[in-house]
Amino acid sequence: MRSTVITGIGSLVTNDPSIGDGPLGLLNDAALVIADGRIAWVGPAASAPDADTRFDAGARAVIPGFVDSHSHLVFAGDRTAEFNARMSGAAYTAGGIRTTVAATRAATDAELDANVARYVAEALRQGTTILECKSGYGLTVEDEARALRIAGRHTDETTYLGAHVVSPDYADDPAAYVDLVTGPMLDACAQHARWVDVFCERGAFDGDQARAVLTAGAKRGLTPRIHANQLTEGPGVQLAVELGAASADHCTHLSDADVAALASASGTTVATLLPGAEFSTRAAYPDARRLLDAGATVALSTDCNPGSSFTTSVPFCIAVAVREMGMTPDEALWSATAGGAAALRRTDVGRVMVGARADLALLDAPSHVHLAYRPGVPLVAAVWRGGELVVGAGAGGGGTA
Ligand SMILES: [Zn+2]
Repeated sequence: MRSTVITGIGSLVTNDPSIGDGPLGLLNDAALVIADGRIAWVGPAASAPDADTRFDAGARAVIPGFVDSHSHLVFAGDRTAEFNARMSGAAYTAGGIRTTVAATRAATDAELDANVARYVAEALRQGTTILECKSGYGLTVEDEARALRIAGRHTDETTYLGAHVVSPDYADDPAAYVDLVTGPMLDACAQHARWVDVFCERGAFDGDQARAVLTAGAKRGLTPRIHANQLTEGPGVQLAVELGAASADHCTHLSDADVAALASASGTTVATLLPGAEFSTRAAYPDARRLLDAGATVALSTDCNPGSSFTTSVPFCIAVAVREMGMTPDEALWSATAGGAAALRRTDVGRVMVGARADLALLDAPSHVHLAYRPGVPLVAAVWRGGELVVGAGAGGGGTA
């Protein structure tokens, strides 16, 4: 068993309050030991044990790898023209998804696989070591199952989103499409997915349809998560809490009752905020402060997709969340690491503690605060995933999230 000691860490975010200061469990002048892909020791650099190899962090910051709990990476084509039109005054609607559906259906497996690999690698270079990935651009039995098979080559966190929009093939009969999603499509997809999701929104699926999709998925062993309250107030958040969903994602338009429900469900249902979507649709941001002050658990993710949020950058989302959504730099960092892990019901990632998976990012900065303080600057200098150096000098590179 080879071991590595990372020493000379100016500032280490552990997200373990029992070993450092505040909710981030911050340790200065720290070291950690990686053995067998896991964290084997964390503490002051002065008392670090020996290991087979040694890495000097040079007084820079080390954080847990980002846990991006919401993305849509299995697609072909892009929506440059739609973005350009929107930035020239057109409104965003759920209907644009159909453009990507047509391109995705026409793509080969190899093309889709290469796209996912490209975006997973892009995210990794920006510090993301766990990435959830949804289907939702196939909308036929075969194309949804194919999307999940391809996603599964790159991540264990795969989500069945046959209910992204009503398939254009069923435009005149949405009820029949829900029957397909909860019947034969689910039969083909359940074995390839861990989660089930639905876009509960005007122009997509209403509360009753969303409930049908999530309960059918749950009966097949898939845990619900939901696109809720993105464009308008609606039933999504309440449904998420009622069904014990792992997350309610977007949470942009919330009533006081929605906020109270998310606060009361803070140990079960995470409010996942996706500011890339508001940025890219020129919409008002969700109010993270309101959720945090109420006691909700908040995650921060990219929602990477070609239509409404074409970014893989968690650091970008952190900067926006701090500037526009009322989060402190500490809260945003926690939400993008431990918060994402909570949204995926993972305890082995999002933290730097003994026994956790050794997923780490070294920043070219003395503190994690620089992620918001220096927006747009590529600060990730090295990434370890499962104990392996995959980004940075001497890295092997590539692989899965
Ligand atoms: Zn989404």
